[in-house]
Amino acid sequence: MEAPTPPEAPMSPQDALRRVGFLLERARESPYRVAAFRRAAEAIRLIPDEELRERAAAGTLKQIKGIGDSTAAIIGQALRGVVPAYLATLEEQHGAALSWEGAELYSAVVGDLHVHSDWSDGGSPIEEMVLTAVELGQDWMALTDHSPRLTIANGLSRERLARQLTHVDAINASLAGSFTLLKGIEVDINLDGTLDQDPDMLDRLDVVTASVHSKLRQPSFEMTSRMLAAVRNPRTNVLGHCTGRLVTGGRGKRPESQFDAEKVFRACAENDVAVEINSRPERQDPPDELIELARDLGCLFAIDSDAHAPGQLDMKLLGCKRAERHGIPAERIVTTWPVEDLLAWAKA
Ligand SMILES: [Zn+2]
Ligand SMILES: [Zn+2]
Repeated sequence: MEAPTPPEAPMSPQDALRRVGFLLERARESPYRVAAFRRAAEAIRLIPDEELRERAAAGTLKQIKGIGDSTAAIIGQALRGVVPAYLATLEEQHGAALSWEGAELYSAVVGDLHVHSDWSDGGSPIEEMVLTAVELGQDWMALTDHSPRLTIANGLSRERLARQLTHVDAINASLAGSFTLLKGIEVDINLDGTLDQDPDMLDRLDVVTASVHSKLRQPSFEMTSRMLAAVRNPRTNVLGHCTGRLVTGGRGKRPESQFDAEKVFRACAENDVAVEINSRPERQDPPDELIELARDLGCLFAIDSDAHAPGQLDMKLLGCKRAERHGIPAERIVTTWPVEDLLAWAKA
């Protein structure tokens, strides 16, 4: 994965608008604010630069639907070959690398097994997530929107998932092999340890990331058998954010779920299920001592972004920083593998 270097002038007006969106997401600005810049980029996508130049000179950019004062200014400055002032300010505030530590491992990461789109609770269309992943130098990514019972996150019914799969096929056809969008899901682990989607639908997917999202404070012995059942399910490939903790951020704090981590990670190792290192700053899940336990028990890992917006895709650097600190070798991290190896592992 390439370090996210700020683009240099000259850049196209569209790239400038999209980079503004990316940096605003990194700053965790409201999705509505971000959407205005993405909409503007889309609004000018098919307009030739020549026409944009004429409009900029005549002051009629704002007559294009979706273009306002600030987006018109960005377009005008980009057309003149300078870095737009607003973009320069954002670069200064939010454009620096998220971390210097972890960069070496990060350069080996080529995929992601945990990404959301606006089909569930993400803020952007699948295409926008893919485009940004390509720009970040990634080779593949699994689309893992939520499962039906997570209604609060607009989880996908069987029918909506089926429609999404058709959509993924169309996107892959347009990518012509330059990048692979895998069919996936972040499936809820039900209270009884079953997975919250029909087995025949799970069989149609390339990868399954399974996570606990409900009753996080149940007694340890219950949570342990619930997680064990999910890990032993042959359709499960990745155990998502295993403790469910929240350590910082707008959603408040939440303690770790209690379970027998040694038993669960042993089962992961035996069943070839990767333990996710969730890179979101508010999760940082698993905690340090559990990363070390999983490492010592021989588990595979998946360093995932759990991105809900394009500007969060490169948060994987934060997961890399933690994996590097705990001495996890790149070859035990499935998100460094070529897509063919990943697919063979997931289907085995
Ligand atoms: Zn989750
Ligand atoms: Zn998620």
